Amino acid sequence: MTSHSDIPPAVYLTPGEHLLRCLDVAEPEFNQVSCLFVDNWKHPRSVKPRPRICAIYEVRLELDSLLSYHSYRNEVQLTTKGSERFFDNGNETLLFHGTDRLCAIGEHRKSILPCFAPACRLCCIIRRSYDIRKSRTKHNFSRFGKGVYTTSCSSKADDYAKNLSDKPKFKAMLVNRVLVGKSAVLTRTNVALSGPPNGYHSVQGKPGADLNYPETVVYRDEAIRPAYLVIYGDQRHEKEVALASKIRSLFRTPLAS
Ligand SMILES: [Zn+2]
Repeated sequence: MTSHSDIPPAVYLTPGEHLLRCLDVAEPEFNQVSCLFVDNWKHPRSVKPRPRICAIYEVRLELDSLLSYHSYRNEVQLTTKGSERFFDNGNETLLFHGTDRLCAIGEHRKSILPCFAPACRLCCIIRRSYDIRKSRTKHNFSRFGKGVYTTSCSSKADDYAKNLSDKPKFKAMLVNRVLVGKSAVLTRTNVALSGPPNGYHSVQGKPGADLNYPETVVYRDEAIRPAYLVIYGDQRHEKEVALASKIRSLFRTPLAS
């Protein structure tokens, strides 16, 4: 995780600009996001080799989207004021989210326009941010109820980053600003949750009992905004993943998830 004091401020879209801006490798943000992705690729190499980063894009926000995020951030700050832990900046944290991608957005510096296909969840999020009503999870299983699921572990988010067509050569994953606020730490699955426990702003699934890798869940659309799009992996990487999978099945090693 990156602490809020290190996170560059969100950028809003001005007329004539595109939602995505390709970061130059010399920009400090490129290095910051790249390190976040690489350092938090936690799966063993034998299960999931670490991929190469091909490009990173900054995601700009529509002004009203930025304002509602800031408004909720102030609300989180106010509700923790005077308590033993005051969350400056709403305890804003950069966390990963993988989702379905139908088009080839981000594959080249010029392919920066999000598509309008409803099945392309990635572009829906880039254009309009998150909508909890439309949130879907792997196998339609929501471990901590209906919310937006993120993780500090890039290799876990990779499980959910799916290309729905064979157009893209690479994979894509979002890095998000998440207003974690005061987070309730849970170790056991609770699918009945419809929000965080009273007095909390989010839920953190702690690895151990039911989870192998951490999860952070927020239950309000205003609590999360896409910040960066990471394009990664290549055919060589896909071959390495396939080989690792083959070796695992040969030795019947359980799959970490
Ligand atoms: Zn798309």
